Amino acid sequence: MRIIKSILPLVLCLIVTACSANAKKSDVVINAQNSYMTEAINEALDGITNGHGGPFGCVIVKDGKIIGRGHNMVLANNDSTAHGEITAIRNAEKAIGSYDLSGCELYTTGEPCPMCLYAILWANIDKVYYGCTIEDNASIGFRDETFDNLAGGREALEDILICIDRDACLELFEVYNNMEHNLY
Ligand SMILES: [Zn+2]
Repeated sequence: MRIIKSILPLVLCLIVTACSANAKKSDVVINAQNSYMTEAINEALDGITNGHGGPFGCVIVKDGKIIGRGHNMVLANNDSTAHGEITAIRNAEKAIGSYDLSGCELYTTGEPCPMCLYAILWANIDKVYYGCTIEDNASIGFRDETFDNLAGGREALEDILICIDRDACLELFEVYNNMEHNLY
């Protein structure tokens, strides 16, 4: 009994250490000015430190509350459509039991690609706040710009597509770019 008592704190300590290592997937801290963008960056950091995909995290906000979140899962799921925005939209719609995200705002670390942009429009999302631009996405090896040129300009969407916290999101891209990673 005495032995059990003496090793108990050690066992507990190991369990706590293992759990906290699990909960805290990234040691990198990037703070954006906008708190929802910070949440989106944290999502992206979770994704890249686990090798799930590119540095793209996303949260969807309704009435000030996060109703869905997600990060890029392309590599983890072998799913070329599992971009951060799509993953977050699916989670948000499931959470509220509706395909209609009217009244919602979406925060994403990288400007949406054409696929995500149209999914956002299909979901009736009111505003999109993005950090890094389509050109920034291209600078770390993603093909958004090529596909964007097929779809034409996005100037017509300037009322709903708003760039914020680009510096913090560029910091995220730098972390990703310096990591060993698979491009797709
Ligand atoms: Zn996308």
